[in-house]
Amino acid sequence: MVYIQDSLLNLTNLEHMPHTTKNVSIIGAGMAGTMLAILMARRGYEIDLFEQCPDPHSGDRPIGLTSNLALGERARHALRLTGLIEQVDRLATPMRGRMIHDRSGRITLQPYGYKEYETLYSVRRESLQQCLLYEADNNERIRIHFNHRLREIDWDKKTALFSTSQNGNSHSHDFEVLIGADGPASKVRRLMEPVCGVDADVKMLNSGYKYLSIPADENHDPLMDPNALHIWPRGGYMMLAFPGPDGSFTATLFLPLKGDHRMIWGFKELDSWTRRRAFMEANFPDVSPLIPRLEEEFQENHVGRMGTVRCSQWHHRGDALLIGDAAHAIVPFHGQGVNSALEDCTTLDSILNENPDNWESVFRTLQERRKKDTDAIADMALDAYRTMRESVRHRDFLLRKALERELELRHPDRFIARYSLVMFHRIPYTEAVERGRVQGEILDRLLKGKDELTDVDLQLAARLVGERLPEVSAIQ
Ligand code: FAD
Repeated sequence: MVYIQDSLLNLTNLEHMPHTTKNVSIIGAGMAGTMLAILMARRGYEIDLFEQCPDPHSGDRPIGLTSNLALGERARHALRLTGLIEQVDRLATPMRGRMIHDRSGRITLQPYGYKEYETLYSVRRESLQQCLLYEADNNERIRIHFNHRLREIDWDKKTALFSTSQNGNSHSHDFEVLIGADGPASKVRRLMEPVCGVDADVKMLNSGYKYLSIPADENHDPLMDPNALHIWPRGGYMMLAFPGPDGSFTATLFLPLKGDHRMIWGFKELDSWTRRRAFMEANFPDVSPLIPRLEEEFQENHVGRMGTVRCSQWHHRGDALLIGDAAHAIVPFHGQGVNSALEDCTTLDSILNENPDNWESVFRTLQERRKKDTDAIADMALDAYRTMRESVRHRDFLLRKALERELELRHPDRFIARYSLVMFHRIPYTEAVERGRVQGEILDRLLKGKDELTDVDLQLAARLVGERLPEVSAIQ
């Protein structure tokens, strides 16, 4: 793969920037806000970064959730551009595939691919966040204002009003350009709605999640294979576990909020320790004994909600822009939320490199380049939800996977699984969908009426692949 460090090679100075704006205000010091602050400060902008949570180094509440994230190529590209990749790699655990645990305790590894780069990196959310914040904090062009919660925006005066949680006061800030990177429930988005007709379609899943932890053994050794994402697919629900650098795992139990008539259990029905224990032992017998604080964690950890946000308009004139989850939150089952949020940042950085005339055209271009792709990954994430819960354990799925792998080995420049295109490449998500569709048709045709891989006509396969799939070098 070729990594084009376009932004690094062509850093320009502010004389070439849209208008002569020097100051950019960013709301939300999460993944997208902090990454964008770092990229824009490198271009010479003065950045004010506002975050409602306290400074994680202050010993008060840490920012965000305590969990692990899977980082793929899109996030790693952003980390490479900012020179942070080696630091993050030291904190990350490589995962080479999915380890599927069936109900009887049988374990099967499904590798992500056979190429060296087809590896995901599990990293603690707080570690990644602190790494980004540390880099931002050390940049003299970035001022981070913790404990600042955005409350109001006066669009005519271009003033943002914050409440400051430390002393209960409020603080107003005049902005030239404002970027909302304030997550799925974005206040900036809600304040844009009445002035520029942002139409946000928010669809929540009727499933939630709860974090549980699997510590290392007394010798600090992991209790399961640490180089895989562990999955317990169970039809209407499932559990995942990500490895951590200290031999521990963070597990996430995904379950309907409320059970249904098919007798699927939901969080609501798990209302006593007896029921919880019976449910866990019946459904996750191999892993339940590895969670020593099962009962306490069930009580202490809240049930998180997940949803998809699709936003008709990402910007208000050249005054304000939404990025990351604020513009396009997705359900977490493809592991692409952070990846996609950071891809917004690198795309915006490349647009600034093209010397655009003004902020409105920068923002419009970003929306034009990204929106169709973020819509595509939103659909793929919902698809992945169905697949992970159900098909990963079905025979048809496994036969399809086996043929997919065979074709990848035989035609490495043309046939690349859609999952790999999304996770380990940077081609636009829409192109991954289109190639995935064509590849799916080829697989359907080859597998029609077949039960075994040895029954498949590989000469026909070669012809179809040659005719219908251009070489990958032509894509990236
Ligand atoms: P956020 O990370 O939500 O950051 C927003 C920031 O804005 C926060 O710090 C918040 O405190 C601040 N803020 C909010 N409101 C205000 C306000 N009014 N004033 C000031 N500050 C404010 N993605 C992956 O790529 N890989 C994964 O494996 C993965 N796993 C996930 C698992 C789960 C269970 C969930 C829920 C999500 C997962 N994601 C994953 C998605 C990922 O977490 C999000 O897509 C990502 O955090 C989005 O980054 P962001 O910066 O846009 O928003």
